[in-house]
Amino acid sequence: MPISVCDRLAELGEIGRGERGLTRQLFTEPEHRASALLARWGRELGCEVVQDHIGNLFIRRAGRTDAPALQFGSHLDTVLDGGAYDGAYGVAGGLTVLAELAAAGVQTQRTFELAAWAGEEGSRFPVGCLGSAVFAGWEHLDEMLELHGDDGMTLAQARSGPYGLLPDVPVRDDFPRPAAYAELHIEQGPVLERQSIPLGVVTAIAGMYRYTVHVHGEAGHAGTVPMAVRRDAFSAAAEFALALETAARDVGDCVATIGWLAITPNQTNIVPGSVEFRIDARSTDAARLVEIDRRIHALADEIAARRGVEVDVQRFEERAPTPLDERLKGTLRETLDREAFAHIDLPSGAVHDAMCIASLCPAAMLFVPSVAGASHVGHEHTQPADLERGVQAFKAWLLAIDRAL
Ligand SMILES: [Zn+2]
Repeated sequence: MPISVCDRLAELGEIGRGERGLTRQLFTEPEHRASALLARWGRELGCEVVQDHIGNLFIRRAGRTDAPALQFGSHLDTVLDGGAYDGAYGVAGGLTVLAELAAAGVQTQRTFELAAWAGEEGSRFPVGCLGSAVFAGWEHLDEMLELHGDDGMTLAQARSGPYGLLPDVPVRDDFPRPAAYAELHIEQGPVLERQSIPLGVVTAIAGMYRYTVHVHGEAGHAGTVPMAVRRDAFSAAAEFALALETAARDVGDCVATIGWLAITPNQTNIVPGSVEFRIDARSTDAARLVEIDRRIHALADEIAARRGVEVDVQRFEERAPTPLDERLKGTLRETLDREAFAHIDLPSGAVHDAMCIASLCPAAMLFVPSVAGASHVGHEHTQPADLERGVQAFKAWLLAIDRAL
């Protein structure tokens, strides 16, 4: 019997464990140890193990033909005090599929290539999906090597240090474009659990607009300035926040969050003179993003005029939604129906490596439930039965893609 995905996750989950959760940042000792463990697992299966110059690690099980590989994967790095399933599930699940195929003597048409993408979380160096972005050509390796991490070290220094690239694994960069890409991941939200559905076909990865909003009013004595003449920057921001919540519900299939706010001067006895806050708005539908953008600007103008404050909105980040491949999603739904696994369609509000790889080849994703929707926290959890079912569904899907391509 091949080792179960739960046992593999338990072993990975001990690496980098602290009091509040798991911390495995790119090119640190725990992340290096997790990558080395994956490389060992790959070699034990008789697979080719290879890495590229940004630190993506590939476990390749040769197919009958030399046609481009069917690629699948996720990431082994974590946020600070993160959980044991985000990313690691897709990697351990993919490895489990390779182990089961090997144990059953199944020969696939295409090479099955498991990728553990480097630095997906951006928790040490300030670029998310670092490894998959370099692989997909979104970012240039040489520029990325100059990035400074949160400890001041450059990526180049970290990569050549004791916890950089794996010393016993060949390095190359001449990977041909994969034929297709599939990613197995925990949902990181509450939708599947609330509906008691074990599997989710991901429709698209949400696009995102991020803004900084400055509200300038007038500071004053909290005891002497009458309510009627105040230009309270915080009250204006608070009104903006509630109106934004209504706008996002109104637009539909859209989420908008104000997760960061700073009041100046931030004193109990002073009417706030200025407030700065940030908005994160997401949708899988580009038209809805345009609509929430229009409403954000309209809200700013309306509140500014009525309250006599200045409201300045700057968009500082913009990413289009990533539609996932219709044919791969169709193959996934057919596979789940055939295996009698209940499933629903749902969007991904979080970013994944599949976003970058989708620009290289057809890509799609399969989600399993997250207990209480918790993720990026130490108590992140998925029930063992859901983990096992997800891997069985994923294996059946990969084999169906291999037949259909
Ligand atoms: Zn992830």
